[in-house]
Amino acid sequence: MQFVSTRGRSTTADFSEALIQGLAPDGGLYLPDRIPYVSPSLWKHATDFPEMSTKILHPWVSSLIHEETLRSLIRDALDFPVPLVKVGPAWVLELFHGPTLSFKDFGARMMSRWMNHFVQQEPLTILVATSGDTGSAVADGFCNLPNLRVAVLYPKGQVSPTQEKQLIVRRDGVRAYAVHGTFDDCQAMVKQLLASPEKLRLSAANSINIGRLLPQMLYYFWAFTQGQWESTHVCVPSGNLGNLTAGVLASLSGLPVTQFTAAHNLNDGFPRFLSGGEEPSADSIRTLSSAMDVGRPSNFERVKSLLTEDQIRALIRGYSCTDEVTLAAIRQVYEETGYIADPHTAVGLSAVRHMQDPVVVLSTAHPAKFSETIEDALGQRPEPVDRLDNLDQMPTDVKPLEPTSDALRHELERWD
Ligand SMILES: *Cc1c(COP(=O)(O)O)cnc(C)c1O
Repeated sequence: MQFVSTRGRSTTADFSEALIQGLAPDGGLYLPDRIPYVSPSLWKHATDFPEMSTKILHPWVSSLIHEETLRSLIRDALDFPVPLVKVGPAWVLELFHGPTLSFKDFGARMMSRWMNHFVQQEPLTILVATSGDTGSAVADGFCNLPNLRVAVLYPKGQVSPTQEKQLIVRRDGVRAYAVHGTFDDCQAMVKQLLASPEKLRLSAANSINIGRLLPQMLYYFWAFTQGQWESTHVCVPSGNLGNLTAGVLASLSGLPVTQFTAAHNLNDGFPRFLSGGEEPSADSIRTLSSAMDVGRPSNFERVKSLLTEDQIRALIRGYSCTDEVTLAAIRQVYEETGYIADPHTAVGLSAVRHMQDPVVVLSTAHPAKFSETIEDALGQRPEPVDRLDNLDQMPTDVKPLEPTSDALRHELERWD
């Protein structure tokens, strides 16, 4: 299989080139040149998530990785449970049981194992700009891998206290930088350095990387394995549309999803597009579901390349809600079922409240990551989680950084 740019002006790449480049040279995003069909027999009777995942992913990478090698990379990366639980009339697929407690662990951990497999000689430095969950998932996923090191950039003062603790824990091969600027500054610094990689061997780990997207298809199949529905509706709390794009890929490879809901907060450019509006182009605004605060979702370009506009509007239903509705949904779900949903999952649950058909909501983060918001909604904090509580005792390592690519280049040149 080869990978092609959404903009069609770059030559094709094999999986390892697409993975290591991140962005295609013409500025587009990589997609496969064909989508392998996944027979229902691969997931209907599956009993083991890593084994099912090996069978589904192998056709995507088969020219470069033996099935046996892929199996061991997957067993190492995806070594946590992915339970489907009943919450009132809906099903919730909990994607937050990985080490940093959000679904970003799937993509980050799998991508790091693949990169480590392909990068055997000169070390590669991975840059990641983060507004919250991605940075800690990537830092955790890539630490202790001999040929890879990671520089994490986050906007000082603009991530939650728990998220900051997760970002600055000392990890081998990882450096955290608190940038005096915004998330957009962090992203611009990364992009500028990537465009001029001179002596530095650099790559990026944001959601434009195809290596993060492919593993996110797997849990859609696993939801169906556990639910044993003939078909069902899937609701995806969305921001940059990476998770939704992975679901679209799963559906194009044969998974019987009747329809998707793209559940957004007030950053509602994509829902507006779905109901006939212009393409999303607004600046992002801050909300309680901060990991979904995206004004111009980068994966929109992939969705448009996979489907026609008519197909997009038929397959995907849009939804958006305010912070008040998010808080009310946390309260309502708790009162009716005793389940505590994090603010992102709550946006998804509020989107499907009145739906009759079977419906699965992807739960993207653990509520303990957003305990301040849960306390606002419920007057009580969620059960503490050891992994987060222990952070208080761990050594940290973070440096302040001016928001310029020169400042970042200077840091990277002195890293050895
Ligand atoms: C990243 C993130 C999202 C949004 O996912 P996209 O793939 O960017 O649409 C939703 N919820 C949480 C908790 C996240 O970390």
